[in-house]
Amino acid sequence: MVSPYAAPVPEMLEVETYRRQAEAVVGRTVAHVDAPDTWYVKRGSSEEVVAAVTRRTIDGVRRIGKLLVLDLDDGTRLGLRFGMSGRLLVDGGAAIDRLRYASGRNNPAWDRFALRFTDGSDLRIRDPRRLGGVELEPDEGHLGVDAQQATLRDVEVALRGSRAPLKARLLDQARIAGVGNLLADEILFRAGLDPARPAGGLTPTELRRLHRAIGRVIVQLTARGGSHTGDARQAMALDGLCPRDGAALQVRRIGGRTTVSCPVHQA
Ligand SMILES: [Zn+2]
Repeated sequence: MVSPYAAPVPEMLEVETYRRQAEAVVGRTVAHVDAPDTWYVKRGSSEEVVAAVTRRTIDGVRRIGKLLVLDLDDGTRLGLRFGMSGRLLVDGGAAIDRLRYASGRNNPAWDRFALRFTDGSDLRIRDPRRLGGVELEPDEGHLGVDAQQATLRDVEVALRGSRAPLKARLLDQARIAGVGNLLADEILFRAGLDPARPAGGLTPTELRRLHRAIGRVIVQLTARGGSHTGDARQAMALDGLCPRDGAALQVRRIGGRTTVSCPVHQA
């Protein structure tokens, strides 16, 4: 049985993997759009998406936080979101085979949206729980700086003056885009910061530690294979003890999300 702490959900690192995979469709022209699930189209209607995207060529693929954006040759933008269970399939292949909250079975009935290209290839979102979605002209202005690009100054500005719990502020996509639940826990574990502390109360030294941890966690967890591979979550799945100091890890709800932290070295 796979531990609930040890399988991926689509966070920034997973969506970055999807972005790389989707680069294969740059230059392809859309022959047909399948949007059978009207509920899955969150911005614009299914008909509007079909009309805007059909016969257009994909000019580029970008990621901002957990949003994947396809740029079309006439300037139209199509946003793809993966929720907790969505996977991207390009030409039938999935970059990430099993997601934590979704069945590992490959059921084409879960295809919520597809672009079929003139060369016979395709790009699909397979999403058993329908928690992702498609957005015509997604609102990129509401997203903060991407976590991968965030400078120390960006992190400082994102937290300044906030009395919200530190973790809740890190999860606020309007401040810093891309940090999901698992990444936030690992970042705070590495930085030695209590997720429940008021976000605006960090000292300059703590801010530097936090900024450094964001960069390191992104690089290391990408190399390890995803946001579920952090030290804190792996220790939770193994024996529940902090690998640094042996303390029993704590599980709390902070900002509405299940939070794993160490009561000893996270202060
Ligand atoms: Zn510890």
